[in-house]
Amino acid sequence: MRQLEINMRESFNLAKTDIFKLQSDMAELRKGQQMIMNLLSRIKAGPKTSSRKTYVASVTGKKVHESNCPFAKNIKPKNRLMYRKKSVALNTGYKACECMKRM
Ligand SMILES: [Zn+2]
Repeated sequence: MRQLEINMRESFNLAKTDIFKLQSDMAELRKGQQMIMNLLSRIKAGPKTSSRKTYVASVTGKKVHESNCPFAKNIKPKNRLMYRKKSVALNTGYKACECMKRM
């Protein structure tokens, strides 16, 4: 009777460690799932953000650039003017940089 009790306790403990292992595996899995979800939402957000393109001009310059143009990145923040629409910048008197003609 006592031996049976010991056996039961042992198998119970084994089951318990199995459960703990399973739980940590699940946590890892959930972490992975969360990472995939984050990645997917970033991919989904991708086209939206690129269509929300901005145009950058300098108060001291004569040209307007796309925000990712190297010239745009050289403009000092205090001289930087941001435009949502290319036409607005062009109407202000700025000329389109080569970076915009490429698109
Ligand atoms: Zn440019």
